[in-house]
Amino acid sequence: MDINLAISQGSKNLRDKFIPNSQLDAEILMAQTLKKDRNYILLNPKTFLNKNNLDKFNNLIKERSLGKPIAHLIKRKFFWNSEFLVSNNTLIPRPDTELIVENVLKLTKQRNKISILDIGVGSGCILLSILQERQNFYGTGIDISKKCLNISKINATKLKICSRLKLYKSDVDKFNLGKYDLIVSNPPYIKRCKIKYLERDVAEFEPKLALDGGLDGLSEIRKVIKKSSELIKKNGKFILEIGFDQKNEVINLLKKKGFYINSTQKDLAKNDRCIICTKI
Ligand code: GLN
Repeated sequence: MDINLAISQGSKNLRDKFIPNSQLDAEILMAQTLKKDRNYILLNPKTFLNKNNLDKFNNLIKERSLGKPIAHLIKRKFFWNSEFLVSNNTLIPRPDTELIVENVLKLTKQRNKISILDIGVGSGCILLSILQERQNFYGTGIDISKKCLNISKINATKLKICSRLKLYKSDVDKFNLGKYDLIVSNPPYIKRCKIKYLERDVAEFEPKLALDGGLDGLSEIRKVIKKSSELIKKNGKFILEIGFDQKNEVINLLKKKGFYINSTQKDLAKNDRCIICTKI
């Protein structure tokens, strides 16, 4: 069987299982099977597939048809300017989260040698993207999951920023090290009872630890705000990702902990997604 026919059949299998973007997914999975890029796949439709590769491809299609995210199948996801290793223990980086990076870069144009804390660093996508753009900034990432920290570390090594990065396994409540010019966080903020209604790819395959915001969706956000208010320097900036319906409650929590709200920003779908504030 040639590449083109295998992709058509794979794509049809995905379509039959209601997977959106079935053609694109099949092409990406073929590229992964052959360890080539997508251009190669598109430019060589008639190349014959040996049985080993055909089996590999069909297995990937099978997993995708059950809802496993493409990022998990190919173990990577592009975010900001880089490709990040991901696993099923890390939240898959979302384009909406690039808002945090964008805002940090805007806020720090004139800054030198500042130290940044990322609470719930996950794959490292936020902190490492910032450190990559700002060669004289220093980063600290904490996460409760050792498996996430291992992934962050690999990503930092690939991006050659290990020397400016410290990673700690810690619960947000228990971390008490240092004072920071800037703090970022994309904490879990989905209401526990709503998790099962997220897209199947997310609900069934992404780590609950990175999604579950407790009964009201705010339990981790509360902890992150409290800890940030303790570890941030006076006039330091705090940039936080929130759920689409959490803006007012989170603004109140921030004000109570001594933050001045600079702005809130909407994501690509026009939902409130990011709050920028300053410790006063
Ligand atoms: N934005 C993610 C989602 O909708 C949730 C991320 C989070 O809880 N931090 O799936």
